[in-house]
Order: sequence, then structure tokens, then C-alpha cells
Amino acid sequence: MAIIISQEKCTGCEVCSSACAPLALLRSVGDRRLSIAIDYSKCNLCGDCERLCPEDALRITESPVTTPGSISLFECEMAKCDNCGRYFAPKPLIDKFKRILKDRDPRIVASLGLCPVCKDQAIDKVP
Ligand code: SF4
Ligand code: SF4
Repeated sequence: MAIIISQEKCTGCEVCSSACAPLALLRSVGDRRLSIAIDYSKCNLCGDCERLCPEDALRITESPVTTPGSISLFECEMAKCDNCGRYFAPKPLIDKFKRILKDRDPRIVASLGLCPVCKDQAIDKVP
């Protein structure tokens, strides 16, 4: 079997890696990018990652895996804070929230472009 993640559907939310009890799904952040990889030697085929993915982006297939070690499944850019420039969250995830909320309060959409530290500071300034 093999696990695949759709580059188009995945938002980088990390639900799958958080749910993976044997830590077979590994997330890493570096060079302003998020990546998710699998170590098949740890995977017990529990199916939790496929079941819990909110985007229906992850599939467990019947294809055989021949490559040993850790295999990259997904990669995306990180979003940059509009205030301090820090890279703070997967960009596809932030973009999705912005699309969903674009017709609501513009302050909410603006706050989605801020990292947690700048968001807290902005909240503290609200009278
Ligand atoms: S099938 Fe289970 S063990 Fe394997 S990667 Fe998914 S959550 Fe982890
Ligand atoms: S595969 Fe699904 S659960 Fe995992 S990061 Fe992508 S969208 Fe989230």
C-alpha cells in the first residue's frame, strides 16, 4: 500500500500528522515551506489519516511501495505575516480561510494575515 496526498486539495492543516499515533507522518518546516513525509516502517495502516483529513486529500492506495525510508508526500509555501514578516502557517490553509470569510467582516480577513504574536498585539490595542 502507499499513501498519497493531493497537492491541489491539501491545505497543510496537519490534522493527519497530528492524528498519526506511531508518528509515521512527519511534518517539517524549513526554507519557508511546510512538508509532510511518511516513514512506512512506522505506519500500521490504521487509516486514521485518511478518515480524518478534512479535505479528502489523503488516500491509502493498493500501490506497492518499494522506496525505503522517509518519502515526501506534500509541500507548500508558508504564509508570511503582513505585519512582522514572520512565516507562520501553511499558505493554502490561510488562503482557504480568506476565501471562506471574504464576504464577512473585513477585520477578520485582515487578521488572518497576521501571525499569532501580531494578532495578540492587535487585539490588545482594541479599546
Ligand atoms: S495509516 Fe495510521 S499509522 Fe499509517 S500514516 Fe496514517 S495515521 Fe499514521
Ligand atoms: S492531507 Fe488532509 S489532513 Fe493532512 S495536511 Fe493535507 S488537508 Fe490536512
